[in-house]
Amino acid sequence: MASSRRDLAVRASVDQGLLSPAEPVVALLDTAGIRASAAALTSAFAAVTDVPVLHAFAVKAAPLVPVLRLLHEAGLGAEVASPGELALARAAGVPPTDTVLDSPAKTPAELRQALALGIAVNADNLQELDRLDALVASAPTASPLGIRVNPQVGAGSIGALSTATATSKFGVALRDEGARKAVVQAYLERPWLTRLHTHTGSQGVPLALMAEGVGEAYALAEEINRTVGRQQIDTLDIGGGLPVNFHSDEETPTYAEYARLLADTVPGLFDGRYGLVTEFGRSLLAKHGTVLTRVEYTKTSGGRPIAVTHAGVQLATRTVYAPDAWPLRVLAYDSEGRRRTGEDTVQDVAGPACFAGDLLATGRALPLLRQGDVVAVPDTGAYCFAHHYAYNSLPRPGIHGFTVAEDGDGGGGGDGVVTFTTVRKPQTLAEIVAESGGAHADALVG
Ligand SMILES: *Cc1c(COP(=O)(O)O)cnc(C)c1O
Repeated sequence: MASSRRDLAVRASVDQGLLSPAEPVVALLDTAGIRASAAALTSAFAAVTDVPVLHAFAVKAAPLVPVLRLLHEAGLGAEVASPGELALARAAGVPPTDTVLDSPAKTPAELRQALALGIAVNADNLQELDRLDALVASAPTASPLGIRVNPQVGAGSIGALSTATATSKFGVALRDEGARKAVVQAYLERPWLTRLHTHTGSQGVPLALMAEGVGEAYALAEEINRTVGRQQIDTLDIGGGLPVNFHSDEETPTYAEYARLLADTVPGLFDGRYGLVTEFGRSLLAKHGTVLTRVEYTKTSGGRPIAVTHAGVQLATRTVYAPDAWPLRVLAYDSEGRRRTGEDTVQDVAGPACFAGDLLATGRALPLLRQGDVVAVPDTGAYCFAHHYAYNSLPRPGIHGFTVAEDGDGGGGGDGVVTFTTVRKPQTLAEIVAESGGAHADALVG
């Protein structure tokens, strides 16, 4: 999120009472930023190819209906991987023709529903293909169908997010004994298999390795079409995975860089013989989300200053449990939402949960936080505050979209008015009780 827009939004959150002692943690989404990322994605591919491209947003990155609706309005579809994600995409109005189902554990009922709706499905493995055989034979379907392959090109810097390792759980492992032959044979025997899918990266995977994975899938599609003797595979789904810069407000790498790299290294991808699907998630949303929290208390422990806030493991689960892989920036504002300046002091920024490791930042140099200050945690728009972790029965915070009105002097929002809209209401205590067996209080004592 542009820092000027963020500063205005922080100030307005305090002024307009969004963030208050009674509501000490909220999450913000920068509507204009999300639109800009969607436009950057679309234009990056349009600059290198004329072929039709469905950019299916990976719903797991930000499973929020208003986000899916906004992205759909911006021309994007949805990549879903569970019945819940499919329900969100449908609630947002994303049509089946713009929806892709990829999950490693689809049940027969999920597959049947997807085929009835005409949603594209990528089979994760050959057993799933057997299930598709039966469904395709039993009723006609408009669903484009494909297989996910793992090109086994190797890992990035975060093991848990590296999908193309030798032993990854996803897709058919192409370099395993006999696997490539089995995949080619599967297409030969099933004229309705018209797509090939790979998703080779996520945070920590270098662009060159992602492109190498796409190149492997392309080469396989060419081999299959040659073997079959016609253009049976007409669409390649190249997955998502563009990494995000969590160290500054700079948005790098860009979609344009990745699209150019693909055009250079896999030119055939764009020459008109294949339609394309992409599945970006993190890179569309991460930079446009910010958590705001009030500093409830400050203290020192062993000489270390600690600011105790309301943003911790429930919102930034990966950061708290794996701080080295998922560092987040922490920005200091005063109680009125003005950026704190002044000398940096090494301090810890803690969350509210009752375990010692619930720290958003450890030994971080930033202006000394005081009681009542506001802390902003940028780059949290994907895989973060929309992925609540119910530790200590901490509530899901409210999520608000915001826009900044242009101030008309051409200076770009110097004193723009900030307008908030509710994306998701904060979870109530009654909801927490209900979701924690409140209706079954006697279940274990009867
Ligand atoms: C998670 C996932 C994506 C999105 O990955 P990002 O790193 O968020 O871009 C795309 N496709 C599949 C199959 C995924 O599992």
